[in-house]
Formats: sequence, structure tokens, C-alpha cells
Amino acid sequence: MRVPERFLLAAILVALVTGLLLSGWSWKLDQLFYDWKIQHTPRAPAPEILIVAVDEKSLEEMGRWPWSRSVHARLVNKLAAAGARVVGLDILFSETASNDPNGDRELVDAVASSGHVVLPVVNTEHTLGGQLVESLPYGALADAAAAIGHVERQLDPDAIVRSTYLKGGLQTLRWPSFALAMLTIAYPERGGDLPGLRAPSSDDPTAMAWVRDHQIWIPFAGPPGTIPRASYVDVVNDRLDPAIFAGALVVVGATAVGLGDLLPTPVSGHSQPMPGVEIVANELDVLLAGLAIRPVDTIWWWCIAVLLVLAPALLYSRFPRWSLLIWGGFILLNIGLSMLLLHYTRYWYAPATAFIVQGITYPMWSWRRLVQTLIYLNRALRDLHGERVVPEAISGLPLSESMSFLRCIVPVSGAVVLDESHRQLDAWGDAPDPPVIGQVPAGEWRVHGADAWNRIQSGENSLYFGVRFQTDAGPDSADLDLLTPAALNFGARTEDTPRNVVELMQRRLQQVQAATEKIQFMRRFVADTVAEMAQGVVVTDGLGHVMLANARAEKYLGVDESGRLEKREITELLFKLEIEGAYNWPEILRTAMVDDKPVEMPVRTRDGLHLLVQLSSFVYNANRNRGLLMSLADVSSLRESERQRRQLRAFISHDLRSPLSSILAITGIAREDPGRIGSEMLDRIDNHAHRTIELVEDFLEFNRAQTADWGTFQNLNLSVVVHDAIDSVADKASMKKIRLVRRLPDEAPVTGDPALLERALINLLDNAIKYSPPQTVVSIGIEETPHEVRCTVEDAGHGIPAEDKDRIFEQYYRSGARREGRPPGLGLGLPFVQVCMERHRGRVEVDSEIGRGSRFALVFPGGQASME
Ligand code: ADP
Repeated sequence: MRVPERFLLAAILVALVTGLLLSGWSWKLDQLFYDWKIQHTPRAPAPEILIVAVDEKSLEEMGRWPWSRSVHARLVNKLAAAGARVVGLDILFSETASNDPNGDRELVDAVASSGHVVLPVVNTEHTLGGQLVESLPYGALADAAAAIGHVERQLDPDAIVRSTYLKGGLQTLRWPSFALAMLTIAYPERGGDLPGLRAPSSDDPTAMAWVRDHQIWIPFAGPPGTIPRASYVDVVNDRLDPAIFAGALVVVGATAVGLGDLLPTPVSGHSQPMPGVEIVANELDVLLAGLAIRPVDTIWWWCIAVLLVLAPALLYSRFPRWSLLIWGGFILLNIGLSMLLLHYTRYWYAPATAFIVQGITYPMWSWRRLVQTLIYLNRALRDLHGERVVPEAISGLPLSESMSFLRCIVPVSGAVVLDESHRQLDAWGDAPDPPVIGQVPAGEWRVHGADAWNRIQSGENSLYFGVRFQTDAGPDSADLDLLTPAALNFGARTEDTPRNVVELMQRRLQQVQAATEKIQFMRRFVADTVAEMAQGVVVTDGLGHVMLANARAEKYLGVDESGRLEKREITELLFKLEIEGAYNWPEILRTAMVDDKPVEMPVRTRDGLHLLVQLSSFVYNANRNRGLLMSLADVSSLRESERQRRQLRAFISHDLRSPLSSILAITGIAREDPGRIGSEMLDRIDNHAHRTIELVEDFLEFNRAQTADWGTFQNLNLSVVVHDAIDSVADKASMKKIRLVRRLPDEAPVTGDPALLERALINLLDNAIKYSPPQTVVSIGIEETPHEVRCTVEDAGHGIPAEDKDRIFEQYYRSGARREGRPPGLGLGLPFVQVCMERHRGRVEVDSEIGRGSRFALVFPGGQASME
């Protein structure tokens, strides 16, 4: 969530809290919390508080109310004698009893002599004129009383008594509450500030109104009956031990139904109201123990509520995964805090305001998040489309537009789109008549004369798409196929009207999902393409670490399968490649990365491969960081053919030319001096010509071997081929008195070209004879193992120097070439053997020791391979 939006949310929440708090709408809910707490924390009242109850039993025994005042006088006297600290006589004696002057007097005497009697004052509406008056005990009695307290009951709007005012009176706060008055009499030494919520000072002190101050809320000790009661009649008739009244604070009043006031309280509710006398006793108990409850100041109330509402709202976006938990946690915290404050500090923090506003923060936040997500999805989709990752056809064109192209191809004169109830949604040109088609499968055309109809399934709805053709003959199916996109195009538009935010969300999610799938497909496509490329490809980031590489690049850079190229630093691998030329790697990398110029250069790998490396830089992320793009192409075969061309040139320009030049030189001499032509000169010409033919044959043979194809090979008996080869060189051998020894099996099956193989064997035998002193032995053998067929040619000749062993198979290479007295040769003999064996899917092995002779082996694949 962006900052301004967060502030907006906060402001709305604060406004809600303030509004609720000022309006008092949550008051009812607050009382539920309050009453619940009061009900569920019962406590033992102070043991010295006692109620003397004018109950049903007393009425039964002592007759109807009112009783003679001398009875009350007797009670006061008895309580005084028993040592009660204070007696609160919660009975109204507003007028003298004209029929019982004795009783009046006795009561005044008793009250006066006790000196600890508190009497009530009430505010009553005067029967005449509705004016408020204070109704005090009659003069003499009021004078005799130790104190007078008001017994005004404070009813909340739901008619439940929860609080009381410690001060009250008509116009002035003359009277303490009845309980406060009792407490002051019982413990005159207790003074100090009065607790309770102060009332705002009245604007008009002269108004005849009852004024109140020092409001306290009473945590009732328990349901009615919790404070111990004694029956009035039992006390007056001495049925109780007077000791229980010693030091007691006694409240005398009516509990009998219909006699005194019975009021609902949090602990009793409306079903079981509490007698006024017990409410007074509770108040007395609360004052005595200092348990009075008062509400927290409004400003604090507001602060706590705002804090408890804002904190979770701001935490949601920080910890979105925990948002629900935070929500619940703060709701509990709010209520818990309220209960704990009430329990331990006697301060009442009304939690309902915060509770209600907290309740809506989470749905509000979730909704905002939904909207945010939607905005994000929209943007993501737009970006995706902008990236052209997801190419899409334009949809939802009006008919006139979607038909403007088609009408050039298809002979239509009009089109129309109807909804399910055949209401026209769009039309173009000479629209066809309403369809007579019933339930046809979607996407199929139905033709009626010059008209054709199609049903389009668009979401849950069906649309009818109709076209009119210019000819009565009607359309052919190819025309209709061309028209189908126009029908579907219309369908696409009607789909695009989500009904609500959830549907919109679903639609967007589907679109993003589809786009994501396409991107994934693209990614896979790119990855597969790179992997399968014939070239090696390496892509690095700006720090030279490989981000992407294919297997071929790994091979070229000498990374085996165990160590992947990805994430590795490129220079360590690059520097192993040897650049052919005067460049060096740092210089090349600079050119590519700093000068931003593509570089191309030939390099050699350790395995002797020739690569063409192309380097260029490219931007690889949104920060416009530049990375390196490198392609490695194997140009070894190109290089090889280049080398061969060079050698061919050398062969023609030198090897082939020199014998021909010699012949020309001889013929030149002969022409100048014809007498010199003798047999020796002709022999030399012969020799040179033979040598040329031999060279050309060697060359052609070698070429033939290079192009030999396994597919044309046949199954043959190698022994036969060897016999033929030996026969071809028998003369040469016998001239040097070299004995040819053969150890050949009757059958040695191999797959091959007999002419090429014979030629290869002749080359080996020729060399063996050529490079062996006379009167030695050359042995030829064939061995068969389960996997191979080996044909060996072994001589006892000069042997091949170790340093030459690797090079004798190179074309035109001759060990100790041109050395005086060396037998002539082109240097194509052994390369021919090697190429020939490669074509036969086999190999040549050589084993030689200077002075002791050489041993060449042609190894053919046996078993399965040869059977292919
Ligand atoms: P050439 O036409 O020179 O014989 P080859 O390709 O057949 O060419 O042989 C290459 C070189 O290998 C020869 O020049 C020779 O030095 C050496 N060589 C080949 N076979 C033998 C052998 N049996 N004993 C000693 N040296 C040999």
C-alpha cells in the first residue's frame, strides 16, 4: 500500500473512532462487556455491613405497613444498645403521623439519643404544578438525625442501576448520598477527597433542578441477598444475638415485594431486581473498601481506542501473512485490556468503539488489497502485452469493422448479431431475417436460402450470428469458414463484461495465468533452442558469471559433466583457450564490454579443436547492466580441409612437378645432343614417369578411402584379402630376400571394402619390406577375440623413432624424409591405412622399437558391430 493511501486509511479509522465515541452508539455494547465483568467478579462484602430487612416475614408477623413509629424507635434503641456504629434508616418519614403522636415522639427521642442514625431525603415532584421539591423527614426528626443522605437512584438508559452520585440536591449539592452519610457517621475520622466522576458545572445555578456530582460506578458484590440480612421482626423481638450488631453498619429498609423500590442491576438484571436498601449497602461496601469504579477520561479513552485500531491496520501490510492473526489478536487485546483495567485499577475503559472499528479494519484492508492486486494484475497484463510476449488478435470489433475486410472476399450483403431472445446487438448492411434455427451445436453454420446462421457460445450465453449472401444460391462451405472469425470476434466482446469485482479478479487471474503459461512456453522454447544449438552458447552477467550455457559450450570450454558451467566465472575458462593471433583476452573483453563492439576470433582448445569465438555485450536486466554473449563454433573441419588444400597445393607444385621437370630436363638434353640418348637415359625417364603415376595413384586411392561409405561394405573373409595382398608384394620381398611368414585362419569374417583393405595391407607390407634390411622376416597374422579381429604385420627392420610415432599417420609426413638413401614414398601410405580403418570403424595400432622392428595392427570391430 502506498503511503498516501495508508494515511487515508488511518484518517478514516480515526474519524470512525471519534464519531462512534461522540455519538455514543456503542454504549449498549459497552454495557454488555461491563455487566459481564461485574457479574463474573463476585466478592465478599465487608462483614460489618448488615441489612435489617422489612421483609415478608416481618410484615406477616407485625401486620400491615406502615407500622407505628414507636416500633422503629424500638429498633433504633435496640441497635444502639447492641453497639451499631451507624444505623441508616432508609424509610421515609416526611410527615408527622397525626394518629400516632407518641410514636413520632418516641422515634425522635430514639434517633436523638442514638446519635448515629442517618435518614433519607428524596426529590419528589410536587403534586401541584409539577415543581420539584426535596422531601425531608419531618422537622423534629430531621433535627435529631445524625445526618441526612439522598437516596436518589441513577438509572441508565436501559433502566439498570450501575452508578450513583455521592453528592446531590435541589439547586445545590447539599446532600451526601445516603451511604456516604452513613460512612461519615460511622468513621468521622475518614475524610479526604471524594472519588467519582465530576459533573460539569451547571450553567444556570438558579434553575430549580436536582443537581448531582461525584458519580461512582458500583461493582456489586453479587446478586440480591449477597449482603447478609436480618429480619426486622427478629431484631425487634430479640430473636437474634445482639452481638452481631456490635460495631456494625446497619441499613434498615424494605425488601418485601411491593413495599420499597426494587431495581435492576448488572448482577441481577430485570428478572431479579435488587431492593434499594441493598443497593445502598453495596454502595456503602464499595466506599468502605475504596472499590468505586470510574470511567477513564474521554481523551484517554479516545487515545487507547485509536491506538488499538490503527496499530493492527498498519501492521497488516507489513505482515500480510499474519494479518488475520493480528486482527484477532488486537480484538482480544482491546477487550482484555478493558477487563484488566477494570479489574486491577477500577478504571472503566469502554472497549466497544475500538471493537467495532477494529472489526471492519480487516475486511476493509482485504478489500483494498484485492483492489491493489487487481491494479497490479492489470498493469502486469498491460506490460505483458507491451512486451509482445502474448500476441493476440483484436477482439470485440463492431460488425461494420469486422466485415470490411471479409466483404471483399466473400459475397455478403449484410450481417447481424442477436442475443438469445433474438434482440439485435449489432447489424451491418442488409441484415438477414431472424433465424428459424433451434438448438444447433455452437460453431456450426445453418443455411436458409441466401442466409446463414451460426450460434456462438459466449461465456454462459448464446449469440446468433447471421449473414446474408448476395446470391440466392447461398454460400459454399469455404465462404462460411472465412466468416467464422467474424462470428467469434463478436463473441469475444460480450465475454468481456465481468459483473463484479470477484469476477473481474477471476478474469484477470485467468488472463495472467494464460500469459504466464505463454511466457513459460517461451522460456522453455528459448532454453531448448539454446540447448540444441550446433554452436556453443554462453551468456554471462556483468560480473562475468555464467547465467546460461549449453552443453556444447561446456564441452568446448573443457567443463566435464560433473562441473556445470552455470554460475562459474567465465575468465578462468576463457583464458584456457589459446588465441590464434596477437590478441589477448583482457583486450578482447574490453573491446566487447567497454567499446561495445562485437569481436570475432579463432582460438584453439586444449583438445586441439579450432573454434571461432564471437563475443558481444548485451543488456540483460532492467537496470541496463551489460553482460556478455558468447558463441563458440567448431571450425576444426574447416581448418582441416583448408590444411588439406594447402598440402594438395604443395603436393602438386612439388612432388608431382619434380619428376615431370626431371623428364623435361632429360628430353631437353636429348634434343640438344640426340647422340646421348641411351638406355640409361630412357630408364631414368621411365623411373620418373612411374614415380608420377605412383604418386597420382596413391593420391587417388587416398581420396577413395576418404569417401568410402560403410553402407556399401560387404561381409568378407579377411584371410582371403591378406593372401591377395601378400601375393602382390611377394616379388618385392623376394628381391630383398625377405621371407613372408603367414599365420592365418581359414575364416576371418569382417565387414569392409576388399579393395581398400587389400591396399591398406599392401601399404603396411610395402613399408615392412621397404624399411627392413634384406634377409629378414616379415610375419603376417590374424587373431580373433570375442570383440575384435586383429590383423598384424610385423617386421625386424629399422623401427620408428619414438618422436615420430604420432606423426607417421599425418598426410605427406615422412620420417627422416628426403634423407639420403631412403626408399622413395609420398607419405600417404599410413594416412591411407588410418583413414581406411576409420571408415571400417576400426583403428590402427603401432608398436615399434629402433633397431628391432615394427609391428602394425589393423583392428576391426568384431561380434555385433561387424554384423550391423
Ligand atoms: P612412405 O611413402 O614414406 O612410406 P608412409 O606413410 O607409408 O609413407 O610412412 C610414413 C613414414 O613412416 C615412413 O616415411 C617411414 O619413415 C615410417 N615407417 C612406416 N612403416 C615403417 C616400418 N615398417 N618400419 C620403419 N619405419 C616405417
